[in-house]
Amino acid sequence: GLAEKLQETFKKLRGKGKLTENDLKAALREVRLALLEADVNLAVVKNFIGRVWERSLGAEVLESLTPAQQIIKIVKEELTALMGDTRSGINFSATGPTTILLVGLQGGGKTTTAGKLALYYKKQGKRPLLVGADVYRPAAIKQLEVLAGQIDVPFFSLGADASPVEIARRAVEHAQRQSQDLILVDTAGRLHIDEELMAELRSMKEAVEPQEVILVVDAMTGQDAVNVARAFQEELGLTGVILTKLDGDTRGGAALSVKSVTGCPIKFVGTGEKLDTLQPFYPDRMAARILGMGDVLSLIERAQSTFDQEKAREIEKKLRRQEFTLEDFLEQIERVRSMGSLEQLLGMLPGVGGAKELRKLQAQFDGKEFVRLEAMINSMTPEERRNPAIINGSRRKRIARGSGTSVQDVNRLLKHFEQTRKLFKQLSEVGSGKGSRKLKP
Ligand code: GDP
Ligand code: MG
Repeated sequence: GLAEKLQETFKKLRGKGKLTENDLKAALREVRLALLEADVNLAVVKNFIGRVWERSLGAEVLESLTPAQQIIKIVKEELTALMGDTRSGINFSATGPTTILLVGLQGGGKTTTAGKLALYYKKQGKRPLLVGADVYRPAAIKQLEVLAGQIDVPFFSLGADASPVEIARRAVEHAQRQSQDLILVDTAGRLHIDEELMAELRSMKEAVEPQEVILVVDAMTGQDAVNVARAFQEELGLTGVILTKLDGDTRGGAALSVKSVTGCPIKFVGTGEKLDTLQPFYPDRMAARILGMGDVLSLIERAQSTFDQEKAREIEKKLRRQEFTLEDFLEQIERVRSMGSLEQLLGMLPGVGGAKELRKLQAQFDGKEFVRLEAMINSMTPEERRNPAIINGSRRKRIARGSGTSVQDVNRLLKHFEQTRKLFKQLSEVGSGKGSRKLKP
């Protein structure tokens, strides 16, 4: 993938010490190829490489003692700028309810994303209303109603015989009566962009004057996603884009091109079929991820939405100070379990080695294993939990007896604990040196 290619390129640079203009040229040629292979728009790539080249020469990078690091820094800054510099969430209406139209082609993920947004903002204390206005495919209205039921959010529709404009208009009235403050309207898509679709969406937009018109588009389609975004922007006018299916084998090109081609910020990304797989889009974090620097902040934030803020802060502090005990270990596993899929978090971790270890850990900690783990840790003295190094042979025997497990089980636990501690140490190293960034930017 893109991340691996770029990491390889920079590794070569790092090994070189002082760089020549030719080294820089060769490296940027590789970056250029990697971006093109990742399906980034050609014009965007040309522009990007040009800027990095100029900045690298201008900043006298080649004269510096750490040229490779400086070039990586410039690349990261330019990648960030490419994707939108700052994070932009939903713009909420200051007075009445906020209306969001979700638009896009069929299968892009509109209906699913409507549910995800409802859940995301419900957790933040909003009162969402899900509105089924996809009269083109009657099953879609039912699909949204089912999703609404799953997350316990109210649902509104008039059925497939009503006009989408009428549904949207009545939904706003309904929301006002029920004091719902976030109206999420799921609209119909088509297989291709056509005038009928655009005309329909334009009249909906006129009728309800939404705060946001957000295109939901499948990131896996690469350049097509960017072309779709351009067309919707020109024909309808958008306030933002949500890229879905970034969990798959996405080459990342869409994320890199959408902003500069359409001028619209990416607001969220979808990374799975489940409703809790929507993440705010942070250009700087995405850039760091593409460059293989991992994404500690996203990881912490996910933990944060599962736990309360104070807990997340405490965990972050421990990670940074590396005061990680077996009790934290237990808590950590519990936390990861309650977050659902570990796989999802893997992509955010720096280094592929870490990912493999985590996968092993995950296999180990299915429900039954977790109960045994808990029993073992409960059989330890507080001193042993804080300082596992003191757990010698006879203590291991005692712990095994006390928890109804075997000495091998205890050995295994201690080994996994060490692995996890290493992993978190790695995390905290990536996370440190960014002290100025707060948990919630
Ligand atoms: P719509 O036609 O635009 O409303 O698209 P749907 O919401 O019905 O989604 C189409 C398919 O894509 C469904 O099978 C969804 O489960 C799936 N989908 C949506 N978002 C994501 C995502 O972020 N990741 C993955 N893997 N699948 C997604
Ligand atoms: Mg749909």
